[in-house]
Amino acid sequence: TETSARYKRVLLKVSGEALMGKGSFGIEPQMVEAIANDVADVSRSGVQVCLVIGGGNIFRGVAAAAKGMDRAQGDYAGMLATVINALMMQNALERAGIDTRVMSAIQMSSIAEPYIRRRAVRHMEKGRVVIFAAGTGNPFFTTDTAAALRANEMECDVLLKGTQVDGVYSADPRRVPDARRYDELSYMDVLSRDLNVMDATAISLARENRLPIIVFNIHAAGAFASVMRGEGRFTRIIE
Ligand code: UDP
Repeated sequence: TETSARYKRVLLKVSGEALMGKGSFGIEPQMVEAIANDVADVSRSGVQVCLVIGGGNIFRGVAAAAKGMDRAQGDYAGMLATVINALMMQNALERAGIDTRVMSAIQMSSIAEPYIRRRAVRHMEKGRVVIFAAGTGNPFFTTDTAAALRANEMECDVLLKGTQVDGVYSADPRRVPDARRYDELSYMDVLSRDLNVMDATAISLARENRLPIIVFNIHAAGAFASVMRGEGRFTRIIE
């Protein structure tokens, strides 16, 4: 198909916030299901898909540190939050008929496989959707950085960042009505203008390996599949 010709293997980063729905905390099962169905369609079209799920809907180390908690300890709690989200996503994907594996950067052998790079690749070659949990396994990092890291390790053709808006804007479009959406940006544009896309560590990792990033609205039905076909609205970040 045209889809599989365009991309062979992709990584989708889903933030924890995307799973909250209308709430301000936790998980709304319908949101997880909607995203899982979109992922299932792309997987069935023959594209190898892996996911990195954030944990910000449950716990963020930085926020806990602001209230006096030890930062590293808070970050470990944040990484565990991503595992909860990963298990929810795994279940939703399997209900959609997709084979999945959760691979955790922090060993948790009763519920997830340990992350082993070559094994992850093998899972994807067999058509399984691999969900990377527990971020990078290190405090002081984010799941955006984990996404850039894993996408490079998996030799993905593109890193997709599913957000609440349909691309990168000059300002927050929900607050600034005449904010402008970019079709294309360079890694340096994002870094030097401090555009709110992914943290600088993630952008730098992508830049060093010329990994293209696509930012799109994860909440538009079928958006992931459309972006895979090169349709719809999104921002591309390339050299
Ligand atoms: N985290 C971490 N190392 C990582 C990835 C995540 O310490 O490699 C922790 C960090 O505390 C972060 C939390 O896990 O705040 C949840 O991840 P993130 O904030 O990236 O989630 P998202 O914003 O995507 O929901």
